Amino acid sequence: MPHPSYRCPNCHAQLPDANQATLACSHCQERYVILHGIPQFIARRFLDPFKQTEQHFHDELSCAATAAGVAARDSTFHLHFKQPMMNLSPGSTVLEVAGGTRADGIEIALAGQFVTMLDLAPQAVERARQLAQDAGVRERMRFCVADSEHLPFADRSFDATFVAASFHHFPNQLAALQEMKRVTKPGGYVIWGVEPAAWPYTTVFKILGPLKRFIRRRRIRAFNSIADDTTSGFTKSQIKELFNRAGLQVQTIKPVKFLTEFYDSCVRMLGKLARRNFVPIASIDHHLSKVDALLERLPLVTKLYWHWNVISRVPRA
Ligand SMILES: [Zn+2]
Repeated sequence: MPHPSYRCPNCHAQLPDANQATLACSHCQERYVILHGIPQFIARRFLDPFKQTEQHFHDELSCAATAAGVAARDSTFHLHFKQPMMNLSPGSTVLEVAGGTRADGIEIALAGQFVTMLDLAPQAVERARQLAQDAGVRERMRFCVADSEHLPFADRSFDATFVAASFHHFPNQLAALQEMKRVTKPGGYVIWGVEPAAWPYTTVFKILGPLKRFIRRRRIRAFNSIADDTTSGFTKSQIKELFNRAGLQVQTIKPVKFLTEFYDSCVRMLGKLARRNFVPIASIDHHLSKVDALLERLPLVTKLYWHWNVISRVPRA
């Protein structure tokens, strides 16, 4: 089995092979159920009200995920953070933390790697497994439900660990980044893709507040993400400090998405107003990302990019 074996997320002791209805830790006695073939590595005490709300929100969101939505993710700013992992020698092991139905892990599996994908939301994980099946990479992927702060793996298990567009949803961010480092081999990658920049939260999003509240009142959704409502994004110096504190060596901090974000946001906003699931057209997104790559050279514009990609490594020492 090329995938690193599961460990108890509570005490890191070895677990029996995942082919029964329950996984019982012989060390700490914690039991984890397997639902529809997916291990649920969440001890009840890990789930505070914040995490429960995020879980319900992302389960609800995952039901709206479409194959077209997955294809639209194949854009240059995603490719930038995925490329180091796609370039690893075939058969390398990669962990996608809080993957939802975004399917970056699927594209990495298509490049020949063995990918484990986890998320806190059980329905999102089931949906992601179906997307992997549809993409023909089910045999190179493995799925489980787990909490980013308690990863069910031994130290130094993976060649690379990444999170995309989800890190700002974690309540204890340093703990989550330290966990990602713990399960990654020395010299391996710890990567962040498309996490929000700070400046829109004090400007654009403040101005758009009334529109957001208007959309919420019309929308039939049981849960909203507390994290999306309370995050203030990240500045470059905050990212440096966070990765330093986690003991990671940062290689690249790249601002990403300028026009592409305007386009994606407009499509999503129109979808919300029309109460339809509009998906950005991949070819438009692709062309705009080429313009973004040119705009990147203008110093002022670089300060106004919407997101960050971060490539870091676990020190070899
Ligand atoms: Zn245990």
